[in-house]
Amino acid sequence: MMTRADVPPLAARAVQVDASPVREILALTARPEVISFAGGLPAPELFDAAGLRAAYDAVLAERPAQVLQYSVTEGDPDLRAAIAARYTGRGLPTAAADLVVTTGSQQGLGLLATALLEPGDTVLVEDPSYLAALQCFKFAGARVVPVPGDEHGVDPEAVAELVRTERPKLLYLVPNFQNPTGRTLPAERRSALVEVAAQHGVWLVEDDPYGELRFEGEPQPWLSSYPEAADRTVLLGSFSKVLAPGMRLGWLRAPAGLLRACVVAKQAADLHTATVDQAAAARYLADNDLGAHLAKVTEAYRSRRDALVGGLAAALPAESRWNNPEGGMFVWVRLPAGYDASELLRAAVAQDVAYVPGAPFFAGPADPGALRMAFTTHTPAEIAEGLDRLARVF
Ligand code: PMP
Repeated sequence: MMTRADVPPLAARAVQVDASPVREILALTARPEVISFAGGLPAPELFDAAGLRAAYDAVLAERPAQVLQYSVTEGDPDLRAAIAARYTGRGLPTAAADLVVTTGSQQGLGLLATALLEPGDTVLVEDPSYLAALQCFKFAGARVVPVPGDEHGVDPEAVAELVRTERPKLLYLVPNFQNPTGRTLPAERRSALVEVAAQHGVWLVEDDPYGELRFEGEPQPWLSSYPEAADRTVLLGSFSKVLAPGMRLGWLRAPAGLLRACVVAKQAADLHTATVDQAAAARYLADNDLGAHLAKVTEAYRSRRDALVGGLAAALPAESRWNNPEGGMFVWVRLPAGYDASELLRAAVAQDVAYVPGAPFFAGPADPGALRMAFTTHTPAEIAEGLDRLARVF
């Protein structure tokens, strides 16, 4: 009789990824009666569905054989040219050849991990940092080391010290309206970080999906705009927060050698990003004023931020702290000592309100009282109701 051997095991990297208990609780927030500050979702009623539909219609009617066909890995030439022109127009000279279109900026992170990281390499991250970036670096076998910082972001001197002691391959940053804290790195710190990178030879990855959602204040320069470290700085962008995340369109702007490696990695991952979606996005940008659409979105988000920030004092325990971000989607809350945001989530969901506990975002020791609140998906009136429910929980 034939003997049966065991099923071969999963790769070690696949089993090391933690199953998150928070995920299970948040699954309960899909009920329509829940007012959720949890998901980082753009407001669906602000999608320009009519404009996007017209763009898809146009490319499918005019060029079906092309937009339904396989295409090149680097991305739709018209779309790359349009993205490059937008950067150039905003003071960051960019050519279409400096860009590869990615399937969301999340894929950009994966491509960078493939192109840059050997198992055991060290990656410096903000603490807290974007959760799915931490996962991506860990999947690549990297050692993730948190950098100390404050309400303005990482401390460049701490980065300089860690660069000397840990010899990292790259520093990952979300400089504008960071996920999860909503904070923005000031220009002085950006130039200091560029100097560290130039002196010590470390890649700077600036992940910027939120930068165009600015409600007030002055835009800060891209790290990529400083010539001293231009040969080691990568910029990730995305249409997810400015058009629609369901289109899964992002891009990566990188020096030529790294860009070539990312294109090869992308070819192995998915050949190319969906042809029809890229063509529709390019058509949308040609036929519409994205700036006018963004003005509408940021105006709505500003009033939602005001509703959230204005109501927090009455909803949270005394001595809680929070910030007032100048843009983006998130407010970061610190409950006073003794409060555990992960434990309280269950009670919150029972009251039909939700947030994301901050703990999973930390690469170092977590602050149990931290939590992230997204203000984008509900109207000011719903936000006020959600805060009343939270007040009952706390
Ligand atoms: N980076 C950051 C900091 C994010 O917050 C997100 C989305 N939440 C992404 C990357 C991925 O976005 P996408 O793949 O939709 O472009």
